[in-house]
Amino acid sequence: MFGRAPKKSDNTKYYEILGVPNTASQDDLKKAYRKAAIKNHPDKGGDPEKFKELAQAYEVLSDPEKRQIYDEYGEDALKEGMGGGGGGHDPFDIFQSFFGGSPFGGGGSSSRGRRQRRGEDVIHPLKVSLEDLYNGTSKKLSLSRNVICSKCTGKGSKSGVSMKCSGCQGSGMKVSIRHLGPSMIQQMQQPCNECKGTGETIDDKDRCPQCKGEKVVPEKKVLEVHVEKGMQNGQKITFPGEADEAPDTVTGDIVFVLQQKEHPKFKRKGDDIFYEHTLNLTEALCGFQFILTHLDNRQLLIKSLPGEVVKPDQFKAINDEGMPMYQRPFMKGKLYIHFSVDFPESLSPEQSKVLETVLPARPSTQITDMELDECEETTLHDVNIEEEMRRKQQQQAQEAYDEDDDDDMHGGAQKVQCAQQ
Ligand SMILES: [Zn+2]
Ligand SMILES: [Zn+2]
Repeated sequence: MFGRAPKKSDNTKYYEILGVPNTASQDDLKKAYRKAAIKNHPDKGGDPEKFKELAQAYEVLSDPEKRQIYDEYGEDALKEGMGGGGGGHDPFDIFQSFFGGSPFGGGGSSSRGRRQRRGEDVIHPLKVSLEDLYNGTSKKLSLSRNVICSKCTGKGSKSGVSMKCSGCQGSGMKVSIRHLGPSMIQQMQQPCNECKGTGETIDDKDRCPQCKGEKVVPEKKVLEVHVEKGMQNGQKITFPGEADEAPDTVTGDIVFVLQQKEHPKFKRKGDDIFYEHTLNLTEALCGFQFILTHLDNRQLLIKSLPGEVVKPDQFKAINDEGMPMYQRPFMKGKLYIHFSVDFPESLSPEQSKVLETVLPARPSTQITDMELDECEETTLHDVNIEEEMRRKQQQQAQEAYDEDDDDDMHGGAQKVQCAQQ
């Protein structure tokens, strides 16, 4: 993508090289190029420079979009816009794709200047449980992928010959041009949709019967994914070079991305595990024990020390019962237990009296009768404090908003409002 001011550079040279007027039809261009290219082919003792110029001129003028750019803005526009696109292609490749083989009968030079593309990686999410990540597991997954057709070895045709794609004139790329304004154009280069960027098409009669000319065939493949102890949510497991195959392409990878499902009881943070447990008041004050089933089904006995009191929101930890560390599974994090305490809703006067005999004494500061006489009676209401705070915040926000509105008003409007009051 680029933007530039149009500048009239030479836009007649390519027509002169091919010896045609700038009104020439595609047919005229083809005829002119065929004649001149054969005559000037270096294999036949022609001038390599002249041969190159012909290929360059033909490559541009045979592509309606490139020709339009050339006619309007000249050679420079093409050079800037397509990274030297005007002369960037191997003239032998252009010659080859024009004739779909060598016009001299011998094997043409075709592999010159061809770059290997890299195929795309295929990403699959892989759902795993926390148990899977604690214990390690392996999962067999059946996938479908494209492999090079064995019958035509990826040529797509019986004869091994392909023709130039008419959609992109064999370049594999399509250039679209947009006018952004009177002095700006934008060029975009995209892979050709008709030939999927290969620049070639195959004659219907010549298509390989196994792949129908697609060059690749789908194949089922079973991959065994090893989930190791201690792996993390989001961790990637890569199978290099197992993605879709395509001709002249380095095959990409299949990548599994671990997605840990929520566990009903345990939460993981790094190498540690968090567990929620609720005690009733008696357990919190007088001691407790319970069984915790771990992620490998071991039964852990969790109990308080004699005389120990657990307070609401308190944490305790058990060393070496957290997650195994990745690639060091004999090392483990901590298991944290977060305690909540359920208090009784109310007590009878008798219960209170009994409790008071064993609980710590009340604070010694006594209120005298004189002081009581001076006091006002109050009533304590139950509140849902979070809800009340939220409501108050909303109210404040609304007021701030209303005030803002007032500020925005013009002086005149405000005066009217005042007068009305
Ligand atoms: Zn194409
Ligand atoms: Zn085939």
